[in-house]
Amino acid sequence: MSISFKETLHVGAPNIGDRQRFHQYVDEIFDRRWLTNRGELVQELEQKLADYLGVKHCILMCNGTVALEIAIRALDLAGEVIIPSLTFIATAHALQWQQIKPVFCDIDRHTYNIDPKAVEKLITEKTTAIMGVHLYSRPCDIDALQAIADKHGLKLLFDAAHAFGCSYKGQMIGNFGACEVFSFHATKVFNTFEGGAITTNNDSLAEKMRLMQNFGFAGVDNVIHVGTNGKMTEISAAMGLVNFLEINKFIEANKRNYDLYKQAIAEINGLKLIEFDENQCCNWQYIVVEVGDEYPRSRDALIDLLHANNIRARKYFWPGCHRMEPYRSLQPDAGSLLSVTDLVASRLLAMPTGTGMTAKSVGNVLDLL
Ligand SMILES: *Cc1c(COP(=O)(O)O)cnc(C)c1O
Repeated sequence: MSISFKETLHVGAPNIGDRQRFHQYVDEIFDRRWLTNRGELVQELEQKLADYLGVKHCILMCNGTVALEIAIRALDLAGEVIIPSLTFIATAHALQWQQIKPVFCDIDRHTYNIDPKAVEKLITEKTTAIMGVHLYSRPCDIDALQAIADKHGLKLLFDAAHAFGCSYKGQMIGNFGACEVFSFHATKVFNTFEGGAITTNNDSLAEKMRLMQNFGFAGVDNVIHVGTNGKMTEISAAMGLVNFLEINKFIEANKRNYDLYKQAIAEINGLKLIEFDENQCCNWQYIVVEVGDEYPRSRDALIDLLHANNIRARKYFWPGCHRMEPYRSLQPDAGSLLSVTDLVASRLLAMPTGTGMTAKSVGNVLDLL
């Protein structure tokens, strides 16, 4: 079988809003001659996102990784922090970068999210926090994690890079734990070229993070805290404002693609598509397929076939963070407690979706499967 496409289909192809409106914003930025440092557009976008998420504070950042680093530092984390290993490497790096040991926790076989039962077993006297990741748009078991954090006096925060526009028990992601961190990288459902945000309902924490993202400046010539540069530019905020106007359209395109994939994959023995709770808000951002034993090809052989046909599906996430440097060397035995992670990482595949995918291109991918 051979199907060839003129265009290559990518996982994480960007969703792009109205171009004319973006160009208008760029002209306005030049007219104002205010390029960064919490300009008008950054403030407007912060307000819009806080309203959308129903959260008190939204602090826009230059990217999700720096946002994670600032959140971790603002919460005074140290020693060890428990995270899943099945995540993007930045979750681990944001800790290691600050000499905090990421302690890798196994996942639930069905949700692929950090397993609260496994979390409890990893707590030591050095543990200061749990950082959950709402993987592939599906919220963690937040209530169970909060109960464990409360019981052991630990902080709880979330890497919510995958969960912008998703809800948990009727409340938008962005409101849970001490704070939550979003990424607005080009590949995410909502993008600002590069960008990110921290959201929190805690006033003093928000104030501290605002200081930290701007070198600790409390006013002109007045530094009162150690800090870094985590600011978002006006150009990124302009992209965010333009894209935010169409966020529902982006999510609807993902949902339409998901439903097309779902219908067809249900008929294919050995392939299992990720499932979502239809009663919650979801961004349908990742089309994640698990390749089982009954499928005639292995996951890796299937990826090769897709790539040979210009479908840039991804082994997402493979391998687990514990199998990449520096963690592989620093924690050579971590894998012994991560059997579910290793199994799932060897079977998952992310398929292209987003506004760049037409129903016809989804159909072409499905023919190949
Ligand atoms: C994208 C992503 C990040 C990093 O965000 P950047 O904005 O690219 O720095 C962190 N964690 C997860 C789970 C991600 O998917």
